[in-house]
Amino acid sequence: MTTFSSLGIAEPILTALTDYGYEIPTVIQEKAIPAGLAGRDVLGSAQTGTGKTCAFGVPILQRLAQKGAGQAIRALILTPTRELAIQIDDNLHAYGKNLPLTEAVIFGGVGQTPQVEQLKRGVDILTATPGRLLDLSGQGLLDLSGVEIFVLDEADRMLDMGFIHDVRRVIKLLPQKKQTMFFSATLPPEIMDLVDTLLHDPVRAAAAPVSTPVEVIRQEVCLVDRGNKTSLLLAILDQEQVGNALVFTRTKHGADKVARDLNRKGVAAAAIHGNKSQTARQESLRKFKAGEVRVLVATD
Ligand code: AMP
Repeated sequence: MTTFSSLGIAEPILTALTDYGYEIPTVIQEKAIPAGLAGRDVLGSAQTGTGKTCAFGVPILQRLAQKGAGQAIRALILTPTRELAIQIDDNLHAYGKNLPLTEAVIFGGVGQTPQVEQLKRGVDILTATPGRLLDLSGQGLLDLSGVEIFVLDEADRMLDMGFIHDVRRVIKLLPQKKQTMFFSATLPPEIMDLVDTLLHDPVRAAAAPVSTPVEVIRQEVCLVDRGNKTSLLLAILDQEQVGNALVFTRTKHGADKVARDLNRKGVAAAAIHGNKSQTARQESLRKFKAGEVRVLVATD
């Protein structure tokens, strides 16, 4: 059985991974970590749930720590959504807790001042969404000329969300010579074009998710009249085995209505969707994680 220590990971990171509850590496980690540590480019076909954050995070932390802490941004992770950016940054903090490196995250939808202040204090590893990154770069508030390691996360989602031009703009701001780790669940032609221009002799690593939802989730369909939907939802939530629940609705308006109806019936619920401010979205997620809110109602 492969262990984390057999992958060449240094002691401070091994300890942090153990503290975080990781015992054995996932498939993508087994393949990508040694390649990343050796400074090779990596092409990972992997989606969220495969452990890819640790697969690119560990090589970044270890390679930068070997050189000591600096002032410039030396690693950049580009990811499509704010929530992913926050999650990646949280993970990097955890994996790197025994190292003298500084991580920071920037994304849109919130004021830029705290982010700019943080950048001024010096950041080794920056996780960002493309829009805010270009915005701050355009204002001359961040310098990417010292980036040694670049991660493009969820490249196919960048394409789906219409961010691919922004991604290309960001790439132009980076030095030619760098290590690149590229992750995408699928590799359509537009993505392969990017792969060909960006990666040099990459090590390929593919992985299925740790567990696919269909394997662990019992799925059921209930046919119900519109007027009885709330009662049915309440009956389902009443079942003993239902702790927290995530409810999806088609529309933002629908999400607000379901959350309101549940709250009226005494079930603590919050809605999360694109019309909510970033602060409100994070607050709903926090309350859900903390158990203060039992049901999170979301659009996709
Ligand atoms: P990711 O695909 O990076 O978003 O990771 C999916 C989830 O798996 C996260 O909750 C990680 O903390 C967790 N995870 C990643 N690698 C491991 C591992 N080797 N052992 C246990 N959990 C892991």
